[in-house]
Amino acid sequence: MSHYDVAVIGSGPAGTMAAYHLAKKGISVVILEKEMLPRYKTCGGGLVYRGRRRMPFDIESVVEREFKQINLYFTGDDKVLTSLRDVPVISMVMRDKFDKLLVEKAKGQGTEVKEGHKLTGITFGAISTLHTNQGDFQAKFIVAADGALSPTAKLAGWKETRKLIPALEYEVEVNAEDFARLSSEVRFDMDSVPHGYAWSFPKKNHLSLGIASTRRKKIDLKIYYKKYLEKLGIKEIIGEKAHGYQIPITPRTDGFHRNNVFLIGDAAGFADAVTAEGISNSLWSGELVAEAIFESGLNPEKAGRLYQQKLEKDLLPELHTSQTAARWFYGYRIIRNMLLKRYGDFAMSLMTDLYIGDRSYPKNLMKTIKGKIMEIKNPLM
Ligand SMILES: Cc1cc2nc3c(=O)[nH]c(=O)nc-3n(C[C@H](O)[C@H](O)[C@H](O)COP(=O)(O)OP(=O)(O)OC[C@H]3O[C@@H](n4cnc5c(N)ncnc54)[C@H](O)[C@@H]3O)c2cc1C
Repeated sequence: MSHYDVAVIGSGPAGTMAAYHLAKKGISVVILEKEMLPRYKTCGGGLVYRGRRRMPFDIESVVEREFKQINLYFTGDDKVLTSLRDVPVISMVMRDKFDKLLVEKAKGQGTEVKEGHKLTGITFGAISTLHTNQGDFQAKFIVAADGALSPTAKLAGWKETRKLIPALEYEVEVNAEDFARLSSEVRFDMDSVPHGYAWSFPKKNHLSLGIASTRRKKIDLKIYYKKYLEKLGIKEIIGEKAHGYQIPITPRTDGFHRNNVFLIGDAAGFADAVTAEGISNSLWSGELVAEAIFESGLNPEKAGRLYQQKLEKDLLPELHTSQTAARWFYGYRIIRNMLLKRYGDFAMSLMTDLYIGDRSYPKNLMKTIKGKIMEIKNPLM
């Protein structure tokens, strides 16, 4: 039976980034991935610059388009909030190609990748045995990067404490006239669905259109998608592939490591609660878990403590703030829109700085907002 220091379950951005950094430090790593690669992943494929700048290698070969400007539209209002930066605020990728590139980069550092290997069970011990549909593997550490449904977390005994929200993604081919019009901008349409938003992400030859609601209540997103097509003025659909999945927008409340298993990315619940953008924090948590395992000298207990400390330093407080912001943003629509009428450009600029990584979420949101409003009212402060 093959033995590794670390077995990473899942070859999305979280798992590949963890494997890349671990292998680079000389630690033996295997990625177990249930699909054959490249595989489609339900995702808008909008990579914000704070994630892109974190990447230790160039990803230009898989970027289909990049946008230095983003536009935020509101339902029942003509106002469009816009922000422009001199870096690609959002880069458009198709996840099959993007994730495959990350897998190749991890392999380049020495990671072994077992495609078509679905994890089916774990026998826990100081050295755990991972059972897959194609045989067993042994590893001292298990990194669960197996996404929103995380079978690994279930096998290791985690209960469901994340908030999972429904989202739909459509890969849509439209006629040349509509494509020319819609491919010139990345747009987010607030309130196109109750407590959520819709997006139009132009790829090389098609549009990735999506819709997500931050409420868990049963909601027929397809109805809102149809309305969104009308809003975008799309009359003719040449091809359309629909995919639905869930996005965990709050972190687990019962810890991120146990039984030598470490949770990262969606398995941990690290997507941003305001935007449901999860790639950049998946990359980040992959990096953090690799640092923790390496710095522990492959001591599981120490690695657990270190991982927790690293998460608590910035990632978890930032996620906490994003949850508070999301509660306000989606829960108090009328107040939000009144505030945005007055401070919209400022708020948009702040959010853009966040998503390009020029600033991080404040750790005390209310204090920061009050301070900023005072600054606007009294610029000489
Ligand atoms: C509709 C939708 C739109 C989204 N749009 C965006 C966006 O535009 N930008 C953004 O930043 N985020 C977006 N997200 C969120 C983003 O897709 C996730 O946050 C991100 O993919 C999480 O990465 P991950 O590596 O944790 O998991 P994943 O990317 O989900 O990867 C998990 C991997 O684990 C594998 N796996 C699962 N079970 C097993 C098993 N038993 N054995 C072996 N392998 C297994 C899977 O096959 C998969 O390859 C979107 C999500 C949805 C649902």
